[in-house]
Amino acid sequence: GWRSRAAFKLIELDDRFRLIRPGMRVVDLGAAPGGWSQVAVKRGAARVVGVDLLPIEPVRGAELLQGDFNDPDLPDRLRELLGGPADLVLSDMAPNTTGHAATDHLRIIGLAELALHFAMQVLGEGGGFVAKVFQGGSEKQMLQPMKEAFGTVRHAKPPASRKDSSELYVVATGFRPDRAESFR
Ligand code: SAM
Repeated sequence: GWRSRAAFKLIELDDRFRLIRPGMRVVDLGAAPGGWSQVAVKRGAARVVGVDLLPIEPVRGAELLQGDFNDPDLPDRLRELLGGPADLVLSDMAPNTTGHAATDHLRIIGLAELALHFAMQVLGEGGGFVAKVFQGGSEKQMLQPMKEAFGTVRHAKPPASRKDSSELYVVATGFRPDRAESFR
């Protein structure tokens, strides 16, 4: 069985956008308890590497680190485990909420931007990027660089995402390394 309800969100996003293909190298940021990694392995990813602040029970077929993605040497550690360019970078990272909506919003966007920056460094030609954001506007500053560096950028609210939450996902596909140079 899937370890998280969140697993269904990735299943729905993948059914709609065909993100995961056999043989891919996939990065899973904010991976605990491991649902998205399970889905990526199950759908044929050849290599799945991920990180979370929390410990994660091993997922067969995935290499999962415990650590803070804000830590400056984490990107390199993930890159080493990947062993080559990534095909898909997923971020379901969400900071602990403070209860102060504006603060929470800024913190989640900070993580999503960090994930985007990392994605632009590790993705190969044609790669994809998915990140959790919140409705409310300040993710707009991410959109310009995404639109420049990816062929297609969309927003999606998978049915498994609670209707009363403002969570949604940005889904970018068709990465063009030559267009991302200024962001790398
Ligand atoms: N996609 C996961 C699954 O299917 O099992 C669920 C992810 S959960 C919604 C969000 C995760 O982001 C939490 O486990 C949290 O610890 C992690 N997280 C938040 N900030 C982080 C950071 N700075 N570095 C690494 N992980 C972080």
